[in-house]
Amino acid sequence: MADKTKQFLIGLVCVILASTVALYNFINSPPPRTIEIAETHVEPCQKHAEAEPEKVLPPPVDETLPKTLRLKVGGGDTLANMIQSQGVAHNQIHKIVHTMKNFYKPRELRANHIIELTIAKANQTSPYFDVQELKIRPALEYEIIVKRNENGTYEAHKRVIKLTEELRWVEGEIYGSLSDAAYRNGVPHKTVHDMIMIYSFDVDFQRQLHHGDRYCMLYSVLIDPETGKEQPGKLIYAGLNLSGKDHELYSYKSRDGIVGFYTQQGESVRKGLLRTPIDGARISSGFGHRHHPILGYTKHHKGVDFRAPIGTPIMAAGDGVIEQVGRWGNYGNYVKIRHNSGYATAYAHLSRYAKGLRRGQRICQGQVLGYVGATGRTTGPHLHYEVIKNNHHINPLSIKMLPATKLGGSDFKAFQAAMMKIKDQKMYLKENFKVMQTARKSNTSSAKKIDQLG
Ligand SMILES: [Zn+2]
Repeated sequence: MADKTKQFLIGLVCVILASTVALYNFINSPPPRTIEIAETHVEPCQKHAEAEPEKVLPPPVDETLPKTLRLKVGGGDTLANMIQSQGVAHNQIHKIVHTMKNFYKPRELRANHIIELTIAKANQTSPYFDVQELKIRPALEYEIIVKRNENGTYEAHKRVIKLTEELRWVEGEIYGSLSDAAYRNGVPHKTVHDMIMIYSFDVDFQRQLHHGDRYCMLYSVLIDPETGKEQPGKLIYAGLNLSGKDHELYSYKSRDGIVGFYTQQGESVRKGLLRTPIDGARISSGFGHRHHPILGYTKHHKGVDFRAPIGTPIMAAGDGVIEQVGRWGNYGNYVKIRHNSGYATAYAHLSRYAKGLRRGQRICQGQVLGYVGATGRTTGPHLHYEVIKNNHHINPLSIKMLPATKLGGSDFKAFQAAMMKIKDQKMYLKENFKVMQTARKSNTSSAKKIDQLG
């Protein structure tokens, strides 16, 4: 026992001694190096600051001189708060908005629109800026201008901007989807959408489109001559060569004033419902009995599933009225359209709806109603599409097309004349397109040569 106590005491003394030495070392050790480094870093900065000459204040700006500001509308901005943030009094903003109300409502304001504001102070001591002029360009083809009169009242007018129409031709091979091929050639989204729509009656993009098939388009764009900005015009002619077979369509405004697309023989493409209300999709599940991937048992599949990435636009299969729009159980975000002759179509699992889509609204064939998603009961993003006739589900891929309407008499004669004109334009633009493509190719190859030399 005594030995154990002795051993314990010796151990204790050792521990105390070691701790004391460590503490002594700690106290007398030089300060950590990092502090030294920090000090040497600070020093030159201080010197530099001392060497800098005293700042000279800029001369005061004469705020009575008018200045023009270009303000870009951001998300959440309102017309009133944008003007107010420039130091304009609230009652003046109210007057301006009131003056322009016949031409423009503040709720028409969209992100990225530009507001041009010319402001100045009445005198240097005034707390507020006066608006001398305000310009808004809600669309490429017009501008709203509000001007201040001598007596301080405001006057608004609409300036129509004459856009120039330019015809364009593109052609190429399709690898992947038609839209990807066209976008690569700079075709506007709306024009590509129009082309897909007019072919959706006859072409089954899933089965009939193959790698290396060719497409061509003749379309117009509208250009603002002042800024060079463009907006989509119209599709005039479209061609698809699928497995060596040509499918050509010409636009024509018939005597009843409706623009449609026709084959060379004058047959309209507009028929019943679209078989495929989506572009670039693959059928992942057909109509009829199948083993349900989630429920695990065989169940009658009341529609067709098209697999497509989230956000792919979904088109209305036919003209009609929106009967239902909203969350609907396993269907997730759901839209149902009532068409004529007892037909209805339904679209399920949407990620979102087209802006402003509501019940009772009329919708046209080909109009985008929403976007592919994976809401409700689903294993992944796809469109579940149903066609219902007199309350019975039918196979969308087996819809009997209504017979094509054919132009006759004087309409057919006028169509033939219109077709000849399009053919001439086509020939001319096609030559230009080829010249431009060869120029582009030789440019890139000479650039490569320079690269190699360098
Ligand atoms: Zn389904």
